[in-house]
Amino acid sequence: MKQIFLFSEEVPADTQQHSGAADLGQTVTIIEREKTIGGVCLNVGCIPSKTLLHAASVIEDTESVSKYGIVFSKPEIDIKTLNQHKEKIINNLVSGLNKLCELRKIKVIYGTAK
Ligand SMILES: Cc1cc2nc3c(=O)[nH]c(=O)nc-3n(C[C@H](O)[C@H](O)[C@H](O)COP(=O)(O)OP(=O)(O)OC[C@H]3O[C@@H](n4cnc5c(N)ncnc54)[C@H](O)[C@@H]3O)c2cc1C
Repeated sequence: MKQIFLFSEEVPADTQQHSGAADLGQTVTIIEREKTIGGVCLNVGCIPSKTLLHAASVIEDTESVSKYGIVFSKPEIDIKTLNQHKEKIINNLVSGLNKLCELRKIKVIYGTAK
């Protein structure tokens, strides 16, 4: 049987490619050199940055309404809890990807492909 080897990726189109190939009966193997699948976008790029940007945007919004007479006190930022929130989102999405691989019988090998 033909085997398809892929590096792990996050962007939805890539995930669909993995799943699509598996759905077509191909044996798909993902090789990942990092500790988790999901690539830059999920683990260190888009998802974590958007989580932090959302928090920043909420702060900005609360500041912007002061011109309408709604004044919030200056926020206390607990970086540790904020980071835990970010990690929780990443972990949820990574476990979703792992589950997807399991369901589609996509094998994941951790190591560097040469
Ligand atoms: C801070 C930040 C914010 C971003 N925000 C956005 C955004 O909002 N929207 C957007 O569209 N893009 C964003 N990006 C860009 C996005 O993350 C990348 O475009 C995307 O991750 C590229 O995906 P990829 O699958 O090509 O590569 P990668 O995400 O790098 O995935 C490749 C995977 O293959 C693994 N790999 C590579 N070589 C080997 C090997 N030899 N053996 C084993 N494994 C290997 C890597 O470890 C990695 O997991 C952002 C990036 C950063 C850094």
